This record gives sequence, C-alpha cells and structure tokens, in this order.
Amino acid sequence: MSVLSVKDLRVRYSANGPEILKGISFELQSDDFLAMIGPSGAGKSTLIRCINRLVEPTGGEIVLLGEDVRALRPSELRRLRRNVGMIFQEFNLINRMSVMDNVLSGRLGYTGNLRSLFRHFPKKDIEKALYYLDRVGLTDHVDKRADALSGGQRQRVGIARALMQTPKLLLLDEPTSALDPKISREVMALIMGIAKELGVPALCNIHDVQLAKEFCNRIVGLQDGVKKFDGETATLRDRD
Ligand code: ADP
Ligand code: ADP
Repeated sequence: MSVLSVKDLRVRYSANGPEILKGISFELQSDDFLAMIGPSGAGKSTLIRCINRLVEPTGGEIVLLGEDVRALRPSELRRLRRNVGMIFQEFNLINRMSVMDNVLSGRLGYTGNLRSLFRHFPKKDIEKALYYLDRVGLTDHVDKRADALSGGQRQRVGIARALMQTPKLLLLDEPTSALDPKISREVMALIMGIAKELGVPALCNIHDVQLAKEFCNRIVGLQDGVKKFDGETATLRDRD
C-alpha cells in the first residue's frame, strides 16, 4: 500500500531564487524504510519538510496517507500531521523541561501550548510515555531535565516523543548527524527496530551511506535537487 506519493515536486524559496527541488518523484510503501541520501545542500531537508508542509512547494503533488497535502486547509493539515512522527537532527527538545514532559509534548504535535499542561494529562498518556521511555532505555531518566542528558539519550527522547503520536509514518531528518559513529549506529538500530516491530514505515534523510545501507531497504539519492538513484538497497553501487 502506498503511504506517500511524491510527483514532480518543485521548490523555490523565493520567486527569483534557484530551484532547490527540480521535479522529484518517488513512492513510499507501507513496508518501506527508505533512506534519502545525497551531499549536503542536495535538498533532502527541503524535501522532507514539504511532506508535512513545513515548506510550501512551488509545484508538484504530494499524497500522504491518501490525502493531497497541498490542498489541505489548516485544520485538515493539523489532523494529518498528527499521524506523522518527526525526528530531528538537533533533537528539538525543550531543554528546561523534564524528559517526561518532552515525551508527553508529542501528543500535542510539538508546537502546541505547553504551559503547565502535563500534570493534567490523562493517565493513559502518562502510561504510554513511560512505556516508550522504557523501550528507548530511559526509565531512570524520566524526571531529569532534557539538557542533563547526552546526545544519544536526547535523541532517544526524540524517538519516544515521536512514538507518542502513534504515527503512521516516521520522518527522520538526519537523526544521527549530531552524534558520534558508535552512538549513531545504536540510535539507528533502536529507531528502525521499534519501527519494524510496530509496522510503521519511515523516510530517513541521512548522509552516511553505510548507515543507510545497513538499516534501510530502499534508497533514493538526491543531488542538486535532482533524483539520481531510486532502488533496493542491494542494487546501490559505489558509482551511483
Ligand atoms: P540537504 O538537507 O540535502 O543538506 P537542504 O534542503 O537543507 O539540503 O538545502 C538545499 C538548498 O536549499 C541549499 O542550497 C540551501 O542553502 C537552500 N535552502 C534551504 N533552506 C532554505 C531557506 N529557508 N531559504 C533559502 N534557501 C534555503
Ligand atoms: P490542535 O491544536 O488542533 O490539536 P496540534 O496540537 O496537533 O493541533 O498541533 C499544534 C501545532 O503543531 C499546529 O500548529 C501544527 O501545525 C503543529 N504540528 C502538529 N504536528 C506536527 C508535526 N508532526 N510536525 C510539525 N508540526 C506539527
């Protein structure tokens, strides 16, 4: 089943600026872990941000979970975004809040009004947060401030937060590029292991080709806003 279909996607950040995405098309199926690879500046982050319309495309079509993303009204877009878990390069945690509160904020889609909401969360949300915190190995850290954790631990908080949305798709924008190689591999293994177990497909921007090959079944390669490769991981050759 198709979870995401992107057709002839085009982006310019300003009317007479350069075209950053020059007609990108690809499909993501419900059993895909798709890695988007390519050098810095290729347009990977722009592409992933178009999918939940954090960036407005200038042309093309995006169908996400059966909905035409570019045609949605704000309320419909909020509803659709609640089905998508985002994991970011710089973790995007709220430093002065506890690990638990950061994870609970996933229920709000990250940017909702966070003031003193947490003590009023339903018990089932707290239990769900504790479950995912356990899954990512942070049971002993729930009450710590987010900024008291290491980079790898902070990204684990980001993973638990994304899972709070019961996502139908995970979007990961360079989830390991702020981490050292050993921790990067651990974090990728954790994310992909949980995603596989829950049956949630993922689209992951990653510049580390080795990690892409190790954890993803399909690879799309971008360069200068153009798709250069699209295929099963096993078919990627060094020259691609
Ligand atoms: P990648 O994620 O592959 O490194 P990006 O999507 O971040 O690529 O960037 C692609 C190009 O778009 C780069 O040339 C970058 O400078 C430009 N770009 C990214 N964001 C913006 C923005 N908000 N305004 C203008 N240009 C941008
Ligand atoms: P509502 O107030 O209708 O319940 P949400 O709490 O889901 O809406 O969303 C609050 C804000 O967070 C909205 O501005 C929405 O655009 C944004 N948002 C929600 N989910 C995401 C997401 N996955 N990625 C980025 N922004 C999101």
